[in-house]
Amino acid sequence: MAHATNLESRSGPTWLRELLVEAVEMNVCVRRGCTTCGATSFRNAVWNSAGGPPTYAEARRCVADQLGTIETIVSPEAVRHLVMELHTRAGPEEFVGLLARFDASEAGAEYRRMLEHDVRRREDAATAEGVIELRRTDKQARAAAHANRKVERDRDRKNDRPQ
Ligand SMILES: [Zn+2]
Repeated sequence: MAHATNLESRSGPTWLRELLVEAVEMNVCVRRGCTTCGATSFRNAVWNSAGGPPTYAEARRCVADQLGTIETIVSPEAVRHLVMELHTRAGPEEFVGLLARFDASEAGAEYRRMLEHDVRRREDAATAEGVIELRRTDKQARAAAHANRKVERDRDRKNDRPQ
């Protein structure tokens, strides 16, 4: 994995598609939040091509439009990186508009796969929590039953005593 390579900025109607192919061919790091390089080379090339940093709404729209041109996912990691970036920067309301720009493309399909994965992960977490809760309730029930038996035993003992 090349953590510090120079990817050129691009222009043209399908610049992101070409940039993604080049990133894969050059094995450039595209990992979001990479602790070694922050995917800096990839990010610089994308956002320079988009005409501004990801904090610019116009640049975000440009990247969303470019995601809309994607017909083949050459790098799921890179596509997810950019979708996450848009999602994080835009906030829920703007993101709906951005998504409309690439929803019909393969990037849109990748976004839906991300969501499904996320839902499954949350369901698994909920199941795990449920099991812990059941175990806890079970333990409480056993403790209560134990206390009850002790109360009954004490009462029986009292009753056995001669009056
Ligand atoms: Zn890296």
